[in-house]
Amino acid sequence: MPNRDRIDGHFDLLMSLEHRRGMGQKNVIETQFLPSFRAGGFTGMIASIFIEDRFLPEMGLRKALDQIGSLYEDRQESHGTWDLCKTYLDYERCRQAGRFGFFISMEGADSLMNDLSLLSVFYELGVRFLGLVWSRRNYAGDGCHFKPVLEGRKGGLTDFGLALLKKAEELGMIIDVSHLNDEGFEDVCAFAQKPFIASHSNCRALMETPRNLRDKDILRIAEIGGLIGGNAANIFIKNPPCEATVRDFAKHLAYMKQLAGIDHVTLGFDFCIHLREDSPVSLPSDVGNGIPVFREIIDGHSELQRLEEAMLEESFSPEEIEKVFGENYLRFLCSHL
Ligand SMILES: [Zn+2]
Repeated sequence: MPNRDRIDGHFDLLMSLEHRRGMGQKNVIETQFLPSFRAGGFTGMIASIFIEDRFLPEMGLRKALDQIGSLYEDRQESHGTWDLCKTYLDYERCRQAGRFGFFISMEGADSLMNDLSLLSVFYELGVRFLGLVWSRRNYAGDGCHFKPVLEGRKGGLTDFGLALLKKAEELGMIIDVSHLNDEGFEDVCAFAQKPFIASHSNCRALMETPRNLRDKDILRIAEIGGLIGGNAANIFIKNPPCEATVRDFAKHLAYMKQLAGIDHVTLGFDFCIHLREDSPVSLPSDVGNGIPVFREIIDGHSELQRLEEAMLEESFSPEEIEKVFGENYLRFLCSHL
């Protein structure tokens, strides 16, 4: 049993998994992902379903089911090294058995289109975290863009979006506001009855992008007992992104701590460079001087220690680092799942 928990609140694993298994690869998680997770000391993760634009709308449902199916199939080959968790107790059992624990989230409700009853199906299959939108519009609401764009008047949550929020809370799913636009965020604040999270969003005060949270958003999430997960993508850390360092990432976490209190700060690294190996997914493109604009601030889960060092330099105590790396998620999961 590991002494310490290390939980990543956001990783687009399932899309990659479905693609790799579709190419004929077997036992993908144990052989291709767990070594890096273990090297960083990770014990659990919230793994996302993500649907690329090119599959929407017609293939959205099919792809989401395929991604979950891939997880179930891969588990049969995994020699018991990991398991799917639907409750905190499931995670606790994994932990005691030395197994890695995965929770499933849905990054955007696009796969449901406007069919509320499908939410129960995904709940039964194990989805416990629901991002209402990705950075695009769907039946639930408007996503925020990665940077300001010319657009018409924006909306908040639709009537379907509010019905979805209510139903998700009734089922026992956690709402995730990362990728929502400001109007949608405020609607969640007005209508949510339970704590919600921003699984992978940084501070807009330190990096101006619609994908990051305003101070008042961070305060609101803390007030209702939610969590904010720092995102390791340089484009959400510093401008110009090519100058962002791991210390700059730690500054976002320190800013959240100062504003919200340490108990609400977590990690949602959003490592997605690996997706490029799999698919022509629409990541912000590389431009200028051969320097990739989109870059991750540490090279995957195995480099967690580099973040720990930067956080110590930003005056986090070892106890506070434990909270950010895992304890805060554990407390939240224990109370709400
Ligand atoms: Zn995302």
